[in-house]
Amino acid sequence: MSDQIVTRFAPSPTGYLHIGGARTALFNWLYARGRGGKFLLRIEDTDRERSTPEATAAILKGLDWLGLDYDGEPLSQFARAPRHREVAEAMLAAGRAYKCFATQDEIQAFRDEARADGRSTLYQSPWRDADPSTHPDAPYAVRLKAPRDGETVIRDEVQGEVTIRNDQLDDMVCLRSDGTPTYMLAVVVDDHDMGVTHVIRGDDHLTNAARQIQIYNAMDWAVPVFAHIPLIHGPDGKKLSKRHGAVGLEEYQAMGYPASGMRNYLCRLGWSHGDDEFFTDAQATEWFDLKGIGRSPARLDFKKLENICGQHIAATDDSALLPEIEAFLAAAARPALTEAQRRMLADSLFCLKDRAKTFPDLLEKAHFIFAERPLEIEEKALKNLDPVSRGILKELTVQLQNVSWTRDELEAAANGVAEAHEIGFGKLAGPLRAALAGRAATPSVFDMMLVLGKEESLARIQEQAA
Ligand code: GLU
Repeated sequence: MSDQIVTRFAPSPTGYLHIGGARTALFNWLYARGRGGKFLLRIEDTDRERSTPEATAAILKGLDWLGLDYDGEPLSQFARAPRHREVAEAMLAAGRAYKCFATQDEIQAFRDEARADGRSTLYQSPWRDADPSTHPDAPYAVRLKAPRDGETVIRDEVQGEVTIRNDQLDDMVCLRSDGTPTYMLAVVVDDHDMGVTHVIRGDDHLTNAARQIQIYNAMDWAVPVFAHIPLIHGPDGKKLSKRHGAVGLEEYQAMGYPASGMRNYLCRLGWSHGDDEFFTDAQATEWFDLKGIGRSPARLDFKKLENICGQHIAATDDSALLPEIEAFLAAAARPALTEAQRRMLADSLFCLKDRAKTFPDLLEKAHFIFAERPLEIEEKALKNLDPVSRGILKELTVQLQNVSWTRDELEAAANGVAEAHEIGFGKLAGPLRAALAGRAATPSVFDMMLVLGKEESLARIQEQAA
């Protein structure tokens, strides 16, 4: 047997891709990719009422944006129902499961009586040890012949050893009387057939693991390594919900967080490597392990997310950043860049990417590229354009006519004018910002002048000079 690591992400396609799900996918992806393993995708679409193709599409899109590539084709759990039935039959044949002919009414009556007598209401089927010759010709469910004594132990990489007494678990139904497999059976059969070695998922599935282990044992299959990770909580410590703001991954894309920053942040959410907050994909892949996953729920912290995303934007190559910005514009339903804008943006990323926490932040700083003459000056910037300042701008245009358009010469010209008026350069920068961008917060005035070029810069300054 090969000892290759195989992990999987097994979302139910019933809505959008929750960021908790995205983090589960990320952990599985990192674990596999860091160990030369495989990362598989299984769509758990057995619930026909709630599963939709749109939800599946949203999951695929979300994983694609987050850069979590999976091996092979996604598997449909529903399509594998015949195989699930086959395994139920095999358990029957091996005497590890039995046919239960009890009707819903009979099960209910059993429970009512047990409750009245103060006994456990866990159903105990009279068919467990029935002689097959007594079987009626009627529909039946296939129930696991679960051990009645002893314990089932989950050796969880995050939660430690979790022990459940077998008398707390009933003989679970594996195949319903209409022939459809239950979720519990489907998960085990699929994980086994896919060769999954490590099941990393939300700790809301921890108790399911005990039941699933019983199915593995009934089939004499190797039990995978389990790692049940605590769920994500909102900043107030309560389970993350819509009340806290965005919970769908696509919303984060539309808000303009870069995928690399999201990966970094989601990875840190519940997992740690010393004090490291910012790291690259290569580092995350190398460092990620199950031991670093905490036992208590991580809290979503937008400040941290923004901080990490800002560092990723600053660290991304311009050539990689541009397509990401364009993908953001499309995701946020904002107008696409024209050819000229794309060129200008590419040329000015060097002065835009520092201190931008999100793509909208960066584009706000890029406003000077998109603005057209006559420039609209925002209220705050207008304050910098008093008559004295406009006079100084006029003088500056004269000085700038004669410089070759290099940073050194631009700086020398601006400093010369500031000195002549005995004002600090800061006093000149405000009016210049207003003239060049129409805004009070912009990249450095020299960066803007270099990007805009001589003709356009002078035209803008002249427009405000008096
Ligand atoms: N389909 C389950 C869910 O979306 C995951 C089951 C599993 O990972 O075993 O919560």
